[in-house]
Amino acid sequence: MDSKNNVMVFIQQDDGAIADVSVELLCKARELADRLGVGVEGALAGSGMEARAKELLAWGVDRINLVSHDALAHYAPLPYTKVMTDLIREREPQIVLYGATTTGRDLGPRIASALKVGLTADCTDLQIGDHELQGKLYKDILYQIRPAFGGNIIATIVSPEKKPQMATVREGVMKLTPKKPGHKGVVVETKAQIGPELLQTELLECVKEARTVNLKGAQIIVSGGIGAGSKENFDLIAKLAHALGAELGASRAAVDAGWVDKAHQVGQTGTTVRPKLYIACGISGSIQHRAGMAESSRIIAINTDPHAPIFQIAHYGIVGDLKEVIPAFIKAYKNKA
Ligand SMILES: Cc1cc2nc3c(=O)[nH]c(=O)nc-3n(C[C@H](O)[C@H](O)[C@H](O)COP(=O)(O)OP(=O)(O)OC[C@H]3O[C@@H](n4cnc5c(N)ncnc54)[C@H](O)[C@@H]3O)c2cc1C
Repeated sequence: MDSKNNVMVFIQQDDGAIADVSVELLCKARELADRLGVGVEGALAGSGMEARAKELLAWGVDRINLVSHDALAHYAPLPYTKVMTDLIREREPQIVLYGATTTGRDLGPRIASALKVGLTADCTDLQIGDHELQGKLYKDILYQIRPAFGGNIIATIVSPEKKPQMATVREGVMKLTPKKPGHKGVVVETKAQIGPELLQTELLECVKEARTVNLKGAQIIVSGGIGAGSKENFDLIAKLAHALGAELGASRAAVDAGWVDKAHQVGQTGTTVRPKLYIACGISGSIQHRAGMAESSRIIAINTDPHAPIFQIAHYGIVGDLKEVIPAFIKAYKNKA
């Protein structure tokens, strides 16, 4: 497969491990490419990444462009921008997708600027459709869909006149689809030429903060909002999470109140989650919060206000004061366990 106009995904690797968001984007790219009748390509830069590149083909990828050089082992803005821009110019994809990670948010705009094309950040959905502009019909372009104006509207953004159309997507937003083990694809490796003018920084040491909160991998999440009223009451919600062996989540209002660390925030500017069970305690269910949890398999909401928007998406609703409901919940669970 060496045709132009494919759907390309920038594959992020950190210390040789492929970022989850890149695999999620490959799944979405496959869906978009099938709709367009084109192929899926990955763009992977690194050093010693041959085996990882081959593994990616099983996600329905037609071609991985592997750009190898020791200077690409860790993300560095100048060499990455150069090799990725060169690759896009050579391959001429119609769409390029990036994870909205620290790396993707740095790299995407640099490439957009170098190629003079658009880039839509933090898309929550991507679709293909037609667009008419000043009497001209643009067929099969990328609808880049994301909340705008503080989440009050869902905007569909298009960039029909320039290719590639580019977007970033946060981790957890696109669903993983099953692997396609029989799928045939190729890895095409090139050795990058990186001159000294691009090597202006040297990575001496990489110190990683240990991840203590794992919202994305949690089967059960108990989340608390500002409705808790105080840090002491919020600790009740943490107790329920502990009793159920669940991860603790929070609304942004609870994070802003200083009751819990930002790493626990669920929603548009926090983590997107899809647990088997999500228990929302004292959370109204703003559009920004729902953007991060509405696809949970089962949702229980505890709220004093029967008209709170969270009840519109909850499978089970308890209208009541969390200070009374949660201790009763813990007691009932312990008696049953
Ligand atoms: C650009 C942008 C991005 C944002 N990103 C996020 C995000 O990622 N995540 C997020 O959560 N928010 C986000 N927000 C904020 C969002 O708009 C809301 O302000 C926030 O979600 C509200 O949090 P809350 O539900 O805890 O508070 P509120 O909306 O104030 O709701 C509190 C709820 O608690 C209930 N309550 C009160 N007392 C009790 C009690 N004793 N027992 C039970 N229930 C009680 C009330 O009835 C109410 O429904 C964002 C906003 C913007 C503009």
